Amino acid sequence: MKLLEATTENINSAVQVLKDGGLVAFPTETVYGIGANGFDPIAVAKIFEVKKRPAFNPLILHISSIEMLDKIAEYSNSKIKFLIDKFWPGPLTLILPKKEIVPYIVTSGLETVAVRMPNNKVALELISKLGKPIAAPSANSFSRLSPTKAEHVVNQLGENIDIILDGGNCQVGVESTIIEILEDKQLILRPGGIPTEEIEKAIGKLSGSENVINPNSPGQLQIHYAPKIPIKFYSESELEANKNKKIGVIFFNESKFENHFDVIKILSKTGDLREAASKLFAFLHELENLNLDLILVEPVEKSNLGIAIMDRLTKAVNKYL
Ligand code: AMP
Ligand code: MG
Repeated sequence: MKLLEATTENINSAVQVLKDGGLVAFPTETVYGIGANGFDPIAVAKIFEVKKRPAFNPLILHISSIEMLDKIAEYSNSKIKFLIDKFWPGPLTLILPKKEIVPYIVTSGLETVAVRMPNNKVALELISKLGKPIAAPSANSFSRLSPTKAEHVVNQLGENIDIILDGGNCQVGVESTIIEILEDKQLILRPGGIPTEEIEKAIGKLSGSENVINPNSPGQLQIHYAPKIPIKFYSESELEANKNKKIGVIFFNESKFENHFDVIKILSKTGDLREAASKLFAFLHELENLNLDLILVEPVEKSNLGIAIMDRLTKAVNKYL
């Protein structure tokens, strides 16, 4: 770990770390973020590993320009354009339909992506020099307080981050306000740095208290992806019970009984949980679109990222019990 003052030279080093698939902690106006190249699924998987989250949670993509937004999301709605004009750069996150280039590990499998343009010179320079969005949650370990100084990041996650850019204190100090505008309603998913009333003044009444995301209990969020077709854990007895069905299988590191199945996917040939995590959601999406009757997925060991992988799979399997 290197703790560096956020000079142009050090920002350049941080850009190189991101290009190489590493992690950089950086200041934004809300809190410090732990960031990875948002187009690099394995680098994004590292974020979950380092934060020791027991579950995947969709991440915010941080952008530095509207051209970058055009690459990653759809936003034809005039109210969305209005909010962008009025509040970006700033502590407002918009949930938008994602484009294909955004890896599913960023969105935890959802078809929408959370995006914002931070109002912080260091963050904007880092993102624009990388030339790609940075996926970043707050740089605290799971269930601890969000960091508003570089020192907080050092204390909580220091040893596992390649570079921590010290850009002083975060001015806003609370997370961004999250808004989603749908055809028939406009929702506030999380109150934050921009007051609800200001947004309502701009675009009218928001609903969503019934939907409010409690950032302290990520497991409770009602924003989880599960495949459209039934999914079960792989076992000899499930195989036997589903003999005549069209089955797609996701194995962890090697395939067993190849000829039983219509499609076989391997999460990581070398048994690397980080690679497995980076592919999980993409495989589920691929299989759910193949006209199969059933997905069978092999359980992985419940350590490191395996805990988050099994959390996600268990929730998906439970849906079809
Ligand atoms: P943080 O990165 O800690 O500021 O947290 C990001 C918040 O945005 C989390 O509470 C996520 O659940 C929420 N979020 C991210 N992507 C989406 C999405 N596509 N739909 C709804 N909420 C999202
Ligand atoms: Mg957080």
